[in-house]
Amino acid sequence: MYRALSIAALFLLLLTGCAGVTGNLNTSSTGQPQIKSIGTHYKKSLMDIGEVQDRKRQQSSDLGLIYNKEFETYANEILSKLKRVSGMADIPGRVYLKAVRAWHANVTVSGNIYIPIYMLEQIESEDVFAALLAHELSHVIYNHADSELFMEVCKKGASVAAIAYQYSKGSDTAKDYYLNSLRVYTAAELFLNPAWTRSQEREADLLALDLLVRAGYSLGAMEEFLTEVVPKWENYNKSEKHKQQEELMAQQAKIELASTSVSLDITGFTDKSISFVESLTRDHHTAEDRANELFEYVDTHYSTWPRTNYSSKEWLELKGSEGLIKVREGLDDIYNARDYLGKREYRKAERATLGGYNPYTKDQSFLRIVFAQIRGAQGNSFKSIKNHELALNGMYPSFASEMTVFRSKLDREQDQDVRVNLLDNILTIFADYGTPSEYYSPLIDIADKLMQTGSATALRAKCAAKHAGEGVNCGASQQQASESKVNLRTLLGI
Ligand SMILES: [Zn+2]
Repeated sequence: MYRALSIAALFLLLLTGCAGVTGNLNTSSTGQPQIKSIGTHYKKSLMDIGEVQDRKRQQSSDLGLIYNKEFETYANEILSKLKRVSGMADIPGRVYLKAVRAWHANVTVSGNIYIPIYMLEQIESEDVFAALLAHELSHVIYNHADSELFMEVCKKGASVAAIAYQYSKGSDTAKDYYLNSLRVYTAAELFLNPAWTRSQEREADLLALDLLVRAGYSLGAMEEFLTEVVPKWENYNKSEKHKQQEELMAQQAKIELASTSVSLDITGFTDKSISFVESLTRDHHTAEDRANELFEYVDTHYSTWPRTNYSSKEWLELKGSEGLIKVREGLDDIYNARDYLGKREYRKAERATLGGYNPYTKDQSFLRIVFAQIRGAQGNSFKSIKNHELALNGMYPSFASEMTVFRSKLDREQDQDVRVNLLDNILTIFADYGTPSEYYSPLIDIADKLMQTGSATALRAKCAAKHAGEGVNCGASQQQASESKVNLRTLLGI
């Protein structure tokens, strides 16, 4: 519940002029460089679930992570160097590549840094890549992810709900769940994101520069990062975000057509939100502001600092390596396959997936998951399960694969004791995957069916405690579902 309260507080701040959001800004006011504002020991977040569990949770989010040994070795060596010069001990986390199209790297409360593979395209040197890592590492050092977690959960909830709806038969529960998620998603995305992250971005940029130059990288790389690379990402994301919103609206329209009993207030609500946020952010150019603040900081603290050349040879070799290129091309094909899948053009989806199959993608979770979805949609559950089994042989499987293989074993098993053992086993795996929230509901369902009341109750309680008010389905009764809707209305003042 405290999370819902803090969101309410945030809304108040935003509605009363945004200025209050900088309450816990760590900017040094004594004219010292930013690095003087950090301590010598990393303070773990209360929400920390452990590096490995955190990675497994990311593996389970949509198309998950990409495994590329060379990239991970290279990137994590740079990260270690940056951690060393921070002077702070025990900073957790590693860098991973993520299979998503949005150009937005993210850090989590457990300290891991996830970079979408497409973002490597815009970077031409190790120094600029180090600038990106230094920026993300600074978010870790300041524990900024604590406040961003809410948004991530919402986004994940909304996308999973959208997929769940697509593949479900459109039961009333699924509709409610979807609309709830959509409400939270819209609220988080439109209201919270722009103003809330501004002060955090500034802190991260300035500390990043301190770390970057102390690790021996070029001062100019941070400037190039903010003046050339970030604006490209922002422009891309603006158009993508627009597309996502259109997709969400189209989904919502479909649901409303399918059932008149679903509340119809959301269109009006969304229109209102968009115009409000537009008025809030109209003349706001994030990258430009960030660059100007950096220039000012450079003038103050680094006017006499030598400007060295970038090193780019190793970076360009890595970026142009067959492994990374083939994985990216394969991912392009998989995205096409998903588009076809959404349009129920299964043959084309199959062809696109086969086109994306190569030695570098064959064990990647993103390929197996989409292949399994296509086979499932074609009614070939045997091959669908087979693909999930193959995904489990890869480096970064999704919990979706664990779940599918578990279900198929459960279906074939008659003995109650063995079935209960299977459930206990998957619950252990679920914890090991950092309890990705969208799986509470199906697991509760199975525990209920197996009459494992203790397990079901424990799952419900954990889910409710962790995700109250976030649009996560905790196997909630209709009454609970409508209660959380009321909470949201109160929050949004509608
Ligand atoms: Zn950032």
